[in-house]
Amino acid sequence: MKDRFGRGIDYIRFSITDRCNLRCRYCMPDGVGLERHENLLTYEEFLQVAAAAVRLGITRFKVTGGEPLVRRGCTEFIARLKSLPGVEQVTLTTNGVLLAPLAPRLAALGLDGVNISLDAADPADFTAITGFDQYARVLEGLEASLAAGLKTKLNCVLLPGCEGRVLTLARFAQDRPVDVRFIEVMPIGEGARTPGPDREAVLHILKERWPDLHPVEEIRGNGPAHYYASGGLTGRIGLIDAVSHKFCERCNRVRLTSTGLLKPCLCYGEGTDLRALLRGGKNDLDTLTEALQQAIWNKPRAHCFDDAAAITEQKKMSEIGG
Ligand code: SAM
Ligand code: SF4
Repeated sequence: MKDRFGRGIDYIRFSITDRCNLRCRYCMPDGVGLERHENLLTYEEFLQVAAAAVRLGITRFKVTGGEPLVRRGCTEFIARLKSLPGVEQVTLTTNGVLLAPLAPRLAALGLDGVNISLDAADPADFTAITGFDQYARVLEGLEASLAAGLKTKLNCVLLPGCEGRVLTLARFAQDRPVDVRFIEVMPIGEGARTPGPDREAVLHILKERWPDLHPVEEIRGNGPAHYYASGGLTGRIGLIDAVSHKFCERCNRVRLTSTGLLKPCLCYGEGTDLRALLRGGKNDLDTLTEALQQAIWNKPRAHCFDDAAAITEQKKMSEIGG
């Protein structure tokens, strides 16, 4: 459906848990915010929301977290979501630690793509950023994902001081069909304390190594990444610059937190409490659809990352799902 600014909204992100097996220092360094299990939406409830979303033309779904693969039954949930009538695409965002043994099953059930978050290209840096010595397992996850034939991308957040890692991360796109996407840190949760370099700084580093790097007009996902190609790279380099370059006029998404808050914009804490509807007896499809419709219609025009005082979102990215 379209919102009041004429933007077509066809994509929703489901954060299915606020728990995680890593402690990325820009996201949940202290293991913040563990909700009681009964406060999280059940898979059944997520599927009810999905059925309502589909009626409004939302056909593309992202499963995220926290770390989605730590929630028991995640694979079966993805299978059920994927087979819901009207659902055209289901993708997963994961830190990759638990991915390797699950990748064949995820491919078999028709998962449309995997984004693996990786902010460092060596074990010591990885441990310093995430708090855990799990670099090797993430690489196994990446290899297993590719071997299973899953469309695989890497998401790398541009942390302060990451300039020295940009080239080693970009090399993952060198010999394999992996898109490596660099993401500006957003001032949400811990991210507000760790602003890093912007798109121009990263492009400068990349162009010294691959001088023919050039922008390409390709749609390669649901998001706002600008893609670049080079004769020396098999995959693409993506840049997601929500902070330095606003792309709100092209925004196509809403988010559902693990506790059932429907968030129309990342920047603001406000949302619609779908859990209250789902558990308050008003959980018929029409009521849910109407609640979604109203929330989407009232989606704010733009984020306010450039004005710290206006950001009302207090939750961590691990609760929201990125
Ligand atoms: N645990 C999974 C993972 O790491 O991919 C899924 C959830 S995580 C919150 C989703 C994405 O948000 C990750 O790629 C992570 O790097 C990114 N992220 C977290 N905090 C961020 C911030 N402040 N700015 C930009 N991206 C952020
Ligand atoms: Fe966990 Fe993902 Fe947050 Fe890292 S970014 S702490 S992996 S939820």
